[in-house]
This record gives sequence, structure tokens and C-alpha cells, in this order.
Amino acid sequence: MLIDSHCHLNYLDDPEEAIDRAREAGVTTCLCISVDEAGFPAVKSLATRHADIWATAGVHPDAADGNLEWIEAELAHERVVAVGETGLDYLHADDASAQARQREAFALQLDLGIRHDMPVVVHTRQAEKDTLDLLQAHAGVKGVLHCFTESWSMAKQALDQGFYVSISGIVTFKNAANVRDVAAKVPADRLLIETDSPWLAPMPKRGKTNEPAYVAHTAEFLAELRQTPVEKLRQETADNFVRLFGCGV
Ligand SMILES: [Zn+2]
Repeated sequence: MLIDSHCHLNYLDDPEEAIDRAREAGVTTCLCISVDEAGFPAVKSLATRHADIWATAGVHPDAADGNLEWIEAELAHERVVAVGETGLDYLHADDASAQARQREAFALQLDLGIRHDMPVVVHTRQAEKDTLDLLQAHAGVKGVLHCFTESWSMAKQALDQGFYVSISGIVTFKNAANVRDVAAKVPADRLLIETDSPWLAPMPKRGKTNEPAYVAHTAEFLAELRQTPVEKLRQETADNFVRLFGCGV
């Protein structure tokens, strides 16, 4: 058991070959993440053609200006298991109106998660307070803070609200002491792992195009960091994924 809880397979040059390599590396399930309307058909097509690939439907904060109206109808598709990725990214949007649009798009997608009883995949960068405020304003919403790089205090508040925290290959980077600190503290029943491929390949693949097979390196690193057997970590993070998203093995 080994699950890549967040990848963008459709941005790889040859997704089919990457899927084969993932299977050879022991990856049993991948969640292919939507970022906008234009990219969603490729995401859905991968999930429709492969039993071990699932999809989300949603719009990334960097695309919050775009159309959001298509999302709700796609949530009914049998291979779509979550809303997102959505959230707030103030690193890439420093003017007030762009940030306001991101909040609006995020709130709309949190509402969809509640109304359709589906988890929400949340991206958050340099927007701790506004992200937490919006999560708290949406009582009952469930989901994951993906590729987490923010403070332990933020992780703790989201965990207290029932959220999961997903750790990417960044945890293996030399300058990511804060991510290691968080990754060591997240309770075993709330931890997920991901590649966020094609970006952010973990050591020892750093600098290469990332792909789901490399989640095995992040699992090894996290097991060492948390002083737990890697088999146990693979099983626990897979169990957490299945509990949250209701799919995968
Ligand atoms: Zn992503």
C-alpha cells in the first residue's frame, strides 16, 4: 500500500508511462488533481481509464479569476471524489482585489464540499489567518491541507477542526526544517503523503520532473523522521486516504 494523495498526472509528458512506473514502485492509488476548467477533461479522462487513478474537480487559487460554474455538475461523476484544489495563495497574489477573488472562489468550493458531503483539497500559501477563518466559517467541512509548508500553529488549528495534513517531497529539502517539524508532529491518523508532481521532486530526485513513483522516497524519509517502520507509514497514510476520500487501496 502506498498512495500519492496529490498529483497532476495530466501535466506529465507521458502520463501512461508514469502510471506504469508508479505501479512498479508499489503505488496503489493516485489522486489526480484539477486546477482549472481547461485542464479538467484530461484529469477526468485519466481517472476514467485507470481503476487506480481518481480525480478531483475544482479551481486553484492562481486561477480564481476563471469559470467556477462547471465544478458542481462534475462532482456527480463516479470517478470524482473531492472538490479542489482550491484555497488561498497570497504569495502569487499581492493585491487586495486578487486576494478577495481567491477568498470568494475558496468559499464557493467549501460550500460545494459541504453540500455534496465531499472532502476539499486545500492549497494555502502565506494566507494562514484567512484560510483558517474561512475553514472555521464552514462548519462541517472536511478535507486536507495539501503540500503543507506553513506553521505548526496553523496545522494544529486545522487538525483540531478535523482536517488532514499532506506532506510533499519538500520535507526532504535541506532548508525545510519547519516542514520537518510539522511532519514529525502530525498524528498518525491524520497524515497523508503526496508528490504534487510534476513539481517538487523529493531527494534524491530533486531537480528532475516529479512523478507519482517518487512518493516512495518521501515515504522512506517520513518513516525515518517519525521513527516508524516504512511499511507502517505506508499503511497508515493509505488508510487515512481511504477514510477521507472513500476510494483507493
Ligand atoms: Zn497541486
